[in-house]
Amino acid sequence: MEDIDVVVIGAGQAGLTGSYHLQRAGIDHVVLDHGDGPGGAWRHRWPSLRLGGVHGIHDLPGSPLRETDGARPAAEVVPEYFGRYEYEQELPVLRPVKVDAVRDGGERLLVDSSAGTWAARAVLNATGTWENPFWPHYPGQSSFAGRQLHTADYHGPEEFRGRRVIVVGGGISAVEHLLEIADVAETTWVTRRPPEFTDAEFTPVDGRAAVAEVERRVRLGLPPGSVVSATGLPNTPAVQAARERGVLNPLPMFERITADGVEWADGRSQRADVILWATGFRPVIAHLAPLHLREPGGGIRVAGTRAVAEPRLHLVGYGPSASTIGANRAGRAAAREITEFVRERSRKP
Ligand code: FAD
Repeated sequence: MEDIDVVVIGAGQAGLTGSYHLQRAGIDHVVLDHGDGPGGAWRHRWPSLRLGGVHGIHDLPGSPLRETDGARPAAEVVPEYFGRYEYEQELPVLRPVKVDAVRDGGERLLVDSSAGTWAARAVLNATGTWENPFWPHYPGQSSFAGRQLHTADYHGPEEFRGRRVIVVGGGISAVEHLLEIADVAETTWVTRRPPEFTDAEFTPVDGRAAVAEVERRVRLGLPPGSVVSATGLPNTPAVQAARERGVLNPLPMFERITADGVEWADGRSQRADVILWATGFRPVIAHLAPLHLREPGGGIRVAGTRAVAEPRLHLVGYGPSASTIGANRAGRAAAREITEFVRERSRKP
């Protein structure tokens, strides 16, 4: 077991930002990440998700993303950028190291990992959401004879050529899947709520409203919800063209799944070979379970970035900060608070 001031868990946008600020403050820390290489969740995004097609990737502190070719896959560009950043900023990233549990060890938090246990004064958790895809449950789901997959397993449209595909979900991922798959397959779009397309430029004011709502939820200990999904669907030229072709005409949510498709309450049905669940992600926090921080509402109560019931733990990239810009802000704020906390503890006899 090794004593250390801070363990950062996860080397995505949030963890690297936190590490950068801890480094500058001279705080002894390590970043544990179980990916095979740099990039956080971006290394797993589907190859056809181009840099120009994402909402926007915020720069890491102190070193901008210089790539200008919007046609390159985000899953290539971002890992390159993060890898260069880790190297240039000399961040103490160890990988692949999986954190299995964070426990209360009295004076310190104990971080159990595939590379041993660290005894830390504080933990900055930045494990994102990608590894916890959310699958809703519908009656008859297990009877479906076709294939079901989640956005997290999507690798592009080719494997669906000539099939009948139902895409479930009202967010930007669902729209991107439909734009691609509709060129090679018969698609049906199903959403819980009518999606809102917007011609308006996304403004910081919209962003603030979405963030404020998610902040309210985490203060109450409720599951955070997605801050990225609260921003509306941009009516890009590609989206407009697809709407004109009838590709983006959503149907309401079906009531049940059958062996060969889905059925609505009014008796309508649709045959399908594939159901693609673009239904979002939940925070990756199972390794924090030994700390017993979950509220009856299902979330962890967080004030700013600090867990209310465990002040030595900060969550970044969680709830209101689960966007690239939010991860930056939260990483900086958490690193500052942790720096104060660690300095104060080190002064104590
Ligand atoms: P991640 O990038 O997920 O990094 C978490 C890291 O933690 C990973 O490297 C993982 O290996 C590691 N990890 C997890 N568990 C463990 C463990 N137990 N032990 C060790 N390591 C662990 N946001 C935007 O602002 N703009 C966009 O355009 C945008 N597009 C998106 C598109 C999709 C399809 C999705 C799913 C999200 C999108 N987001 C977007 C959200 C955004 O990607 C993230 O909120 C942001 O990148 C913050 O990343 P993060 O550091 O919190 O997490």
